[in-house]
Amino acid sequence: MSILTRSLWSMLSQTNGPVVYDGDDLYNTKKLATDVSDLSDQVREMGIGNETKVVLALPNSYAFTVAYIALLLTGAVVVPVNPTLPATEMERFMSRFEAKAVLMQDDAESGWADIFARTGLHPLGTAAELSLPGTALWLRVSASSEQAPELRTPDEDAPAVLMFTSGTTGNPKGVLLRHRHVMAAALHVVESHALTQEDVSYCILPLFHINAQVIVLLSTLLSGGTLVMADRFHASRFWQDVAKHQVTWVSCVPTILSILTKRDVLEGSTASLRFVRSASAPLSPAILARFESQVGVPVIESYGMTEAAGQICVNPLPPGLRKTGSVGKPYGIDLKVVDDEGRAVAAFDVGEIAIRGANVIEGYWNVGEEPGSATEQGWIHTGDLGYVDNDGYVFITGRRKEIINRAGEKLSPREIEDTLNGHIDVASSAVIGLPDPLYGERVVAWVVPTDFDGTDATQLKRELQALCLRSLAKHKCPSEFIVARSVPVGPTGKVQKHLLRDKVAAARL
Ligand code: ATP
Ligand code: MG
Repeated sequence: MSILTRSLWSMLSQTNGPVVYDGDDLYNTKKLATDVSDLSDQVREMGIGNETKVVLALPNSYAFTVAYIALLLTGAVVVPVNPTLPATEMERFMSRFEAKAVLMQDDAESGWADIFARTGLHPLGTAAELSLPGTALWLRVSASSEQAPELRTPDEDAPAVLMFTSGTTGNPKGVLLRHRHVMAAALHVVESHALTQEDVSYCILPLFHINAQVIVLLSTLLSGGTLVMADRFHASRFWQDVAKHQVTWVSCVPTILSILTKRDVLEGSTASLRFVRSASAPLSPAILARFESQVGVPVIESYGMTEAAGQICVNPLPPGLRKTGSVGKPYGIDLKVVDDEGRAVAAFDVGEIAIRGANVIEGYWNVGEEPGSATEQGWIHTGDLGYVDNDGYVFITGRRKEIINRAGEKLSPREIEDTLNGHIDVASSAVIGLPDPLYGERVVAWVVPTDFDGTDATQLKRELQALCLRSLAKHKCPSEFIVARSVPVGPTGKVQKHLLRDKVAAARL
């Protein structure tokens, strides 16, 4: 039996183990254990286990928690997907992953029935039949009448979760995480954040991505703490929820921190908060400073990726030294910075970050590898550029695929974005390279102001230009500023620069 399986059962068998809140509903350990056990029995009876791929298409909820744990314990492979995907996209997903079943909300639209019929799926569970309220299970009915094989208990190498990367830099890559990867990552989070039974986490990021799944859900359950589930991030009730549940930590993305700095903090609501975690995308030092001074709670920046089942680097908790602009030190993982030939470079030299460790996959799932994401001897090349300082702190300077090549000069958008975000009226920014007949590429800045009424932004543009000229070498200064109400971000809070490029190009036509 895998350590993950054993640890989850052991937490669920405690009298005072993990607790889940979904809205105002409280589910104690006993209820959680009963629901998990009933659902895993039910799915096992249907022959699900032994690495059967089950698409899990539920929103953030208690039901997601039960289904995720029950499927892991059964030995099925959880394939979490965005529950708001249109049915046709789900069909593509089903065929690509050859999933045998889909666990979804039972009130899904009727269009699904036709699509599932085409893919050989039939409704099995309904609200009444399945022990999990509000869910339905669609199972691919096997044509053969063979005897169902005996179900095995998952071991360390058993596949646990199959999912795609966020697709920020292009086509998402398939990542198959095994029980051992997931357990190692969750443990690193528990240890590095010193999580205990006293902790209350607030789950506002989407559970179909690795951050919320491992860093919030699993680490909370494995440390016996309290998990407060939100369907998504609601700025208007964030502080009320934190105060109501005496939340001790929240996993955020930089966009959320930036949004929170624009709102008043509810008086007294931060007293229980030990820290707020930021990961998934670059956190500008200016936004970090703004958040900490307005809210008075430390921000722990961390660096992670799907291929590492969540966490790679993390800053220490206070009173440890947090370095501004750094994602912290590698935690329980080997990390090196390499040049184009794959040779390790010296401290402070920028190169590509490569990682290897107990929580890191050894290769991609079922795909031809792309340049920049290759693996060698257990090392995954992250596609992220950065350097390590003399104290072992890692600084990310950009992504390989987003580097702007202006007349042969390689420019990192990150440095320019950090400069722009330093302007008091800027909430966020994204810098891209656009084709230029003279320079090959030119630097264009997309800026989202803190308050924007959609009218004249001439003054702000002027100030930004002056700020860049003061702070950056001339060739790094954007030749154009586009001021807009928002920037396209994916579900994990990352700016989708390929969409931004299309958007700017379309506006130019
Ligand atoms: P794809 O690989 O499909 O392009 P993705 O890399 O965005 O998508 P994820 O696995 O969700 O998919 O995200 C991991 C990436 O997120 C990292 O490789 C890194 O680029 C970025 N990231 C995560 N944390 C940080 C951070 N603290 N600072 C800067 N970038 C970060
Ligand atoms: Mg990636």
